[in-house]
Amino acid sequence: MSWEDNVRRTVPYTPGEQPKISNIIKLNTNENPYPPSPSVAKVLSRMDAGELRKYPDPAAQRLTDALSAHFGVPADQIFVGVGSDDVLAMSFLTFFNSGKKIFFPDITYSFYDVWADVFRIPYETKPLDENFHIRPEDYFGENGGIVFPNPNAPTGDYLPAEEVENIIARNPESVVIVDEAYIDFGGRSVLPLIHKYENLLVVQTFSKSHSMAGMRIGYAFGSRKLIGYLNDVKYSFNSYTLNAPSILAGEAAIEDEDYFEDCCCRIVATRERTKKALRELGFVFADSKANFIFVRHPQLDAGQLFQDLRKANIIVRYFPKARIDQYLRITIGTDEQMQVLLDFLKDYVRKHV
Ligand code: PMP
Repeated sequence: MSWEDNVRRTVPYTPGEQPKISNIIKLNTNENPYPPSPSVAKVLSRMDAGELRKYPDPAAQRLTDALSAHFGVPADQIFVGVGSDDVLAMSFLTFFNSGKKIFFPDITYSFYDVWADVFRIPYETKPLDENFHIRPEDYFGENGGIVFPNPNAPTGDYLPAEEVENIIARNPESVVIVDEAYIDFGGRSVLPLIHKYENLLVVQTFSKSHSMAGMRIGYAFGSRKLIGYLNDVKYSFNSYTLNAPSILAGEAAIEDEDYFEDCCCRIVATRERTKKALRELGFVFADSKANFIFVRHPQLDAGQLFQDLRKANIIVRYFPKARIDQYLRITIGTDEQMQVLLDFLKDYVRKHV
């Protein structure tokens, strides 16, 4: 018997590459190509570093209040964390304790099975249909909880709010987590439903639509009961999750609504232009309502194309996994970046197809 027999062994999540070289077109981790609101830089440059000797506000009240004002949700129905990964992990720990299997799609955010494994939560994946849509009826059986992203990742497929509600309504016995990391790029949030369903948790993030992946801010909305339970677990784990600069930067970003709207519109416009150009080159894909497109070309090997793009300093995301190993997930960058990608692909298709 050695100490190693008692180690909690896990197979960790693999984040997308963060290359150290410059001059690269980075379309692999769904970051926003535009900087955050100028008011973020302003508030950070004015911050008194002397303040850092103190612990931050454990409730991150300024940020929670700014979210409350922006979304029209009472502050005690909002939970904040270090990116939505932190919020989601904390939610798995808090709500998925029945011993029954939790359900999530077979093709989805690849952190879900990792958290389920690390917290010893049994799970069952539900296959997306042949068009990569979630089948709501798959989620009507007995379960220990439900989680899915909407739009889904890495497919970008959006489940209409009515169908999401159907899943929630059919599961009054378990907590349903809707991960809305990409909702600001054209979907309709189910946030208003938190007032109707006590068991609904809606999770969002500053990482994508607010251009602040590096700051690590995520948040969730739910009934007072759900948020209360989440806070109990948080305070049993680490009281000071958000650091002081994050609280200030998050508050500044959420208050700049015009910048946010403008930035999201630009990305949606670029996405739609990119879809049209990719279609013309023979790529096929499910319609995406996210800041990425999940594409395949019937006559090209995705793994090979991924490597050839890499050699041309264009990084996209490739998942060598069952059902999706002929797809590439391409994040929407600026118009200029997408043009470089499209020029490369045009030439590539001409040579290889
Ligand atoms: N949910 C989904 C579906 C995601 O793709 C991501 C990004 N990797 C996250 C949550 C986590 O994002 P963050 O922790 O940066 O908020």
